Amino acid sequence: MSEVKTQEFRRASAKVLANAKLQSYLGRSMGTFDGARAEAIEEISPERWEELRQQGREIKRHTLDNLDYYLEMLQERVTANGGHVHFAKDAAEARAIVGQIAQTRGLKLAIKSKSMVSEEMGLNPFLESIGTEPVETDLGEYIIQLAEETPFHIIAPAMHKSKEEVSELFGEKIGRPNLQDIEAMAGAAREVLREKLVSADMGITGANFLVAETGTVTLITNEGNGRFCTSVPRVLVSITGMEKVVPSMEDLATFIRLLPRAATGQRISSYVTHVYGPKRPEDEDGPEEYHLIIVDNGRSKLLADPDLREALYCIRCGACLNTCPVYRKVGGHSYGWVYPGPIGAVVSPVLVGLERSKDLPNASSLCGACKDVCPIKINIPHMLLKLRSQISEGSPTSSTKASFVDRITSKGYRRLMSSPRLLGMARTLGLLAQWPFSRGSFIRRMPIPPFSRWTRTRDMPALAPKSFRQVWKERLEEEGR
Ligand code: SF4
Repeated sequence: MSEVKTQEFRRASAKVLANAKLQSYLGRSMGTFDGARAEAIEEISPERWEELRQQGREIKRHTLDNLDYYLEMLQERVTANGGHVHFAKDAAEARAIVGQIAQTRGLKLAIKSKSMVSEEMGLNPFLESIGTEPVETDLGEYIIQLAEETPFHIIAPAMHKSKEEVSELFGEKIGRPNLQDIEAMAGAAREVLREKLVSADMGITGANFLVAETGTVTLITNEGNGRFCTSVPRVLVSITGMEKVVPSMEDLATFIRLLPRAATGQRISSYVTHVYGPKRPEDEDGPEEYHLIIVDNGRSKLLADPDLREALYCIRCGACLNTCPVYRKVGGHSYGWVYPGPIGAVVSPVLVGLERSKDLPNASSLCGACKDVCPIKINIPHMLLKLRSQISEGSPTSSTKASFVDRITSKGYRRLMSSPRLLGMARTLGLLAQWPFSRGSFIRRMPIPPFSRWTRTRDMPALAPKSFRQVWKERLEEEGR
């Protein structure tokens, strides 16, 4: 498993909030993605988009309800096509399978197309440890591999790096100093990568979708590097999560319409690559040997939980990250593991443990924007609330509990909000307590924690002089009702 730092969310996000340069990038880039998505939906028409979303959701629901059936069908078809299917229960087992394939065949250079599951597994350091050089071939992934970092965003892993930072990195790591413009940097990366691409003996890819009826692994990319990885090396390994299976090619067509529009606002990605297995006698190129590794690594826990199962519908488009007011401020690294943003705040606590991720379900204002933009209509706010309740009540699978103070506060809040009499009394006390600190409708500075923590960075709205009940009553009286 790759290094987990989910427990450092508060400290890491405070650091990003204080970084003015990063804040300005984040605002700009997220707005661009979000705007492109909205335009793409306008183009196809919002009504058609809704139909596609509903179709995508239905396909995912049906497939996950019958996952064993479709996985078995997929295994049969891939095997019939000449490939090998491996099931890995966790990251260690998946690494061991890759290691066994690489070592028994003496594979020394592995070119990789983007794979989130390989990030989950911590595959690159593992490959290095067994003497196989891993090379990321997606430009963003290549940059972060050189920088020895983890992806910042699901679809734009190096979006936090400025042109100047990439130029410096290329000077230091690949001996190409003083590159000024982006074309020159892309050209330098292409030169270095092309050499690796043509001499690699192992290809490693992820998978956007697995089609059960044909045994097809589908990759959706924009750079063409995926095609190199699937056609040049003599051994090809695809590693992906078990939730990526869809029943048929017709179902795949729905997702091919949804994913690029939600991710980047494109009608279709530049490359849609289908892998059917090793090359056949009549094929000019392709791998001599093909392996598909289907990884669980905690997904069964999501599948078994009726409240959280929807998280497995995710097609990793990144739209919920782009629209989330929290992600747009704290960025991807703050979440401390492979999956950032709203969907990461649901998936990571289950995959790495709620004990280590208690802050993630709280990293949301519950505004619902993530659900509104999700191409599969995943109800992320509902799942975040479920996780919050597991944290406060303790979950059946973990010993996690909210602190004593948090539990007392939420019990007190519940009691207050269910008794109009108590709420009225609390309001009167609040009005008296806020009097020395309020100026107009706001309180600018409170001296007592936890309120002082709030007013350190923003104003707090003061209690209104009249309650809603009073205003409502007065209005009815004025209208003579
Ligand atoms: S949860 Fe929805 S919006 Fe977020 S990455 Fe997954 S599919 Fe995209």
